[in-house]
Amino acid sequence: MLLLDFWRAESVRFDAVLFDIDGTLVVGPRLLPGAAELISLLRHDGTPFFFLTNDGDHTRRQKCGFLLRAGIEAEEREVISCLSVLPELARRNGWERGLFFRAGRLGDTGDLELTSDPARLEECSAVLMGEGPYDWRTTWEALIDFFRHHPERPFIVPNPDTCWPNASTGGIGIGAGGQARCIRLLLHEMGTEIEPIYLGKPYRAIYDYAAGRLGVTDRSRILCVGDSLASDIRGANNAGMYSALVLTGITSEQQAQQAFGEFRPRGIFSAIGQGA
Ligand SMILES: [Mg+2]
Repeated sequence: MLLLDFWRAESVRFDAVLFDIDGTLVVGPRLLPGAAELISLLRHDGTPFFFLTNDGDHTRRQKCGFLLRAGIEAEEREVISCLSVLPELARRNGWERGLFFRAGRLGDTGDLELTSDPARLEECSAVLMGEGPYDWRTTWEALIDFFRHHPERPFIVPNPDTCWPNASTGGIGIGAGGQARCIRLLLHEMGTEIEPIYLGKPYRAIYDYAAGRLGVTDRSRILCVGDSLASDIRGANNAGMYSALVLTGITSEQQAQQAFGEFRPRGIFSAIGQGA
């Protein structure tokens, strides 16, 4: 079944839609069938929606650029990245007045005061794990030393992703989650336990933030569309939202049919719309 047909028949059951981007609306620079049509339909009907991304490395403006080049018009305010959660989280926990240490590169971090200078780590009230190229050895050694003395300081990780495909090298890049778990393991082997705070899918923070922005209280009326069982589907199910899997990304039909528990999609769709 196509998601567009499901939406036309069942849209009365939903108040809002959350979209994953890669593998769901686009694959790299290529627009997936029906994606632009469904977005236009939602705009026409006044149905609120957000693009939900675990990409903390690019800004929301850059994400809009990627979507536009593929053929989907998007505004910055329609993109929720894992980092969108950060300013509110910092405010709620009283961290917003402190200095944050940023390991690597990050997209939108709001008004937070940041440093990437390991010599200033002692002044920092929290650590943010980033991505991109940086002197990881110097930074990791400084972080391990810091957390050995301050295991209670927040270690905030934008997404739990282990790796990501590096289009420029054809190889892999180590994700923020993968880096954070390496640091955590090294600390564990030295007898110090730390617990990273993850912001992105499948963790709750990004879904709570999106539901708040949508103003929808009955979360079962939010349709979440994605291509990953472990990220999009698990996250939506655990957040009490309606999970819809599209088979245009990383999940095969067999994997989808065999998924169970929190990984099981409520709906499985071959694509959003008909191919050309
Ligand atoms: Mg995806």
